[in-house]
Amino acid sequence: MTIYKCRNCGNEKKQYLPPKICDCCNSQDFYIDLSSHNKLVNEYKTAFEQADFLKRQYQTYTKYSLTIALLIFLTTMTIIIYLQKRQNNQLKSLINNIPSPKPIPSLNNIPSPKPIPSLNNQNQIVGKVNLHGSKTLLSLRKEARITTNNILTKLTDGTELKILAKIEGEMYQVAGQKRNDWYQVEVESKQGYIAGYYIDLILKSLKY
Ligand SMILES: [Zn+2]
Repeated sequence: MTIYKCRNCGNEKKQYLPPKICDCCNSQDFYIDLSSHNKLVNEYKTAFEQADFLKRQYQTYTKYSLTIALLIFLTTMTIIIYLQKRQNNQLKSLINNIPSPKPIPSLNNIPSPKPIPSLNNQNQIVGKVNLHGSKTLLSLRKEARITTNNILTKLTDGTELKILAKIEGEMYQVAGQKRNDWYQVEVESKQGYIAGYYIDLILKSLKY
C-alpha cells in the first residue's frame, strides 16, 4: 500500500487511495511517499508478469490438450473402424462356410429287382429247393433277411416254386462264403423270399 503524508503535521496514512482529511490536524493537503509508491508499482509489475506467464502457460497447455484429445479421438475411431471391418469379414466367412444341403439321392439310384428272363412261351424258368443235405426243411420268409419271426412256411427238399424276382437282401454266410442274393418266389399260393444258395434254377418246358 501507498504511504500518504500530511503536509501540515507529517501524519502518515497507509492506504490505496489518497485520504480526504488528516485525522490529527484536519488538513486536506497530502503527498505521496515515493519509495512506498515505487514498491507498489513494482508489486503490480510482478503481479502482471506472473499473470502473463500463467496466461502463456495456459495457452500452451490448451494447445497440447487439444492435440492430445484429437489424437485420442482419431485412434479410437481407427480402432472402431478396424473392429467393424474384422467383424464384417468374420460374418462373411461364416456365411460362405455354411454347408449347402446335400442333394437327395434320386430314386433312379435305387436298384430295381432284376427280371428273370423268360425264354419263350413254351419254356419257363422255375426254382427248385436244394438243401445241399445240410438240413431237412427250408424257411419261406416275409422279408429277404434271416430272423425267427418272419417265417411264412417250411419247404421240403426238391419243392418246385415260381421265381418272381432276384434281389439283393440281407448278407448271409453259407458254405464258407458271404452272399446277399435272394429270390422272391411264389409257392403254395404264398409269396415270400428264399436265400439264393438254396434255389436251383431249372428250365421247364410247358409243352407237356
Ligand atoms: Zn496533519
